Amino acid sequence: MAPAYLTGACLCKNIAYRITLPTPVSLPKVILCHCTNCKRYTGSGFSANIVVPRSTFEYTKGSPKLYSDRSNKGVIVLREFCPDCGSPFTSRSGDDEEEVAVKSGTLDDEDRVKCAELGLEIYFHRKDQWVDGMGDGGVKRVDGSMEG
Ligand SMILES: [Zn+2]
Ligand SMILES: [Zn+2]
Repeated sequence: MAPAYLTGACLCKNIAYRITLPTPVSLPKVILCHCTNCKRYTGSGFSANIVVPRSTFEYTKGSPKLYSDRSNKGVIVLREFCPDCGSPFTSRSGDDEEEVAVKSGTLDDEDRVKCAELGLEIYFHRKDQWVDGMGDGGVKRVDGSMEG
């Protein structure tokens, strides 16, 4: 059987990647990180990631830029992103780390939809309060932009 992949790219599509899925195929669950560095890095309230073996992740087009981040506990976090459009791709805790966290929002639409299960939330004590309002139906919702 041909190997199954997840594919993704940045906003400008100059950089693309693929993840080889294990056989039999199992899809990674989504892990949310509420840490303050992920908020800054993504410009959002949290980062959404899938964690996969690093050996299964490869860039198929272009090469990302590496930013060596440091947590407030002094732990190095290597973050790869597109230098042209700024999309974040991956983070890992060092060059000897065997797993890599891939930002699930960079997956191609069809593959992002496949990774539909939330598995874990980390740095939960840093969660922004508005996140609690997601999914409770109390906020106006629009399919499309603010302009409608
Ligand atoms: Zn890009
Ligand atoms: Zn984080």
